[in-house]
Amino acid sequence: MKFTAASVLAVAALLSIGSDAFAPSSSRIVVHRAAAPQPLSVSATEELSSADTEERKPTKKEKRLEFMKETTFHRKGFKEVRDNVEKNMGEQFKSSLVDELKSNNYVIEKDGVRVHLAKDFGFCWGVERSIALAYEAVEHFPGKKVHITNELIHNPEVNDRLHDMNVQFIEKLDGDANSKDFSTVGDGDVVILPAFGASFEEMSLLNAKNVDIVDTTCPWVSKVWNTVDQHQRKGLTSIIHGKYAHEETVATTSFCEDYICVKDIKEAEMVADYIVNGGDKEKFMNHFKKAVSEGFDPDTMLNKVGLANQTTMYKKETREIGQLMQKAMIKKFGPVDAKDHYSEFDTICDATQERQDAIHELVEKADELKLDFILVVGGWDSSNTAHLLEIPQKAGVRSFHINTASCIGADNTITHRTMSGEIVTEKLIEDIENKDKEVIIGVTSGASTPDKAVQDSLSSIFLLKKMSSS
Ligand code: SF4
Repeated sequence: MKFTAASVLAVAALLSIGSDAFAPSSSRIVVHRAAAPQPLSVSATEELSSADTEERKPTKKEKRLEFMKETTFHRKGFKEVRDNVEKNMGEQFKSSLVDELKSNNYVIEKDGVRVHLAKDFGFCWGVERSIALAYEAVEHFPGKKVHITNELIHNPEVNDRLHDMNVQFIEKLDGDANSKDFSTVGDGDVVILPAFGASFEEMSLLNAKNVDIVDTTCPWVSKVWNTVDQHQRKGLTSIIHGKYAHEETVATTSFCEDYICVKDIKEAEMVADYIVNGGDKEKFMNHFKKAVSEGFDPDTMLNKVGLANQTTMYKKETREIGQLMQKAMIKKFGPVDAKDHYSEFDTICDATQERQDAIHELVEKADELKLDFILVVGGWDSSNTAHLLEIPQKAGVRSFHINTASCIGADNTITHRTMSGEIVTEKLIEDIENKDKEVIIGVTSGASTPDKAVQDSLSSIFLLKKMSSS
């Protein structure tokens, strides 16, 4: 779902935010900064209660809220440069071809190729907001050295733009997301936190420096941090469905006390089995050694668990993991007491869910539409894009995940990333020289993919078909 002015205003009204920040514009990307489809519970749970905190040590979330009160901590962008940034983003990312597809009921025919576009695709609200905040920061602080703690989002073009704007990417030491060289950040500099957030340790370190912090963390990501904070308060161990080394999960686990990350249903089954039957502790810990909190003890810490996830995981799998954990607790503690041992909040963001639903719809119609293949466009590091590929692949529909238009070769080949993460090249279209045979494709793109990248990829296919059959 893209946000209409009406839905934006309705959410804004609920949040009691003025409407001037999100006037729609047909020729620009409109950054509905104040109109996030964010869970309303975020603001409610972000309030600190002194009665709640006076008797105990503050949680990491409460400390983060203290950092956010500093006048050097910026989360709302800079109004005076907003118009210019919106204009630049429109020029960089929008696509006339994608606009045409949308206004033509998501279908187009060109040069012997028919394209069906998924109903939801491309930039999500959180990504647009994050890019806008980062661009505004660069314009608002002219002459200052601006750093970013990680890639802003998983899209090569957007990160290249930031490089071009002279934003300094803080170096990872030995490629480890947990260990970075902050020595380059000096007094008076500006530091941008990316869409998937920064770890508690990084925020503490930056809070102690004399710098301006521009926080572009998506509110859906901080909703997950609120969830793991609730786990901590209730004495639950967080089971996080996510990849332990992914930047978002690194940030989330930094706000946990006790946690274990499971990347898929297979690992969740190992945890569920340990909950019910116990087992070889050494073997278990050896498997999960990088995916657990310090001092993790599966014999004592898996008795009461709560589920949370990386916002971009495959929703169906998160549901299955939830059911698995519930069943494990029922087996171990009986149906009545199980509820005291398991807690679940849905932390998959709407944008992820909507894009997954839309490609499901395309996959279901693949035979009826006679699709030759489905093209999934997005950064190869992008978790949400990789999950979009899983849906056609698991349904046996030919599909390719490409990161840029250059993956389409003039020799009728495609270089793509498989579900297992390999980059392979293969022949793209059978019988391409046949003038009478129309090529029919489905297309979608990840939440961090500009429409322009979809346009460029489709244009390469149009050109390939045109040249091959002329
Ligand atoms: S995919 Fe979801 S969590 Fe990630 S930036 Fe977009 S809206 Fe936020």
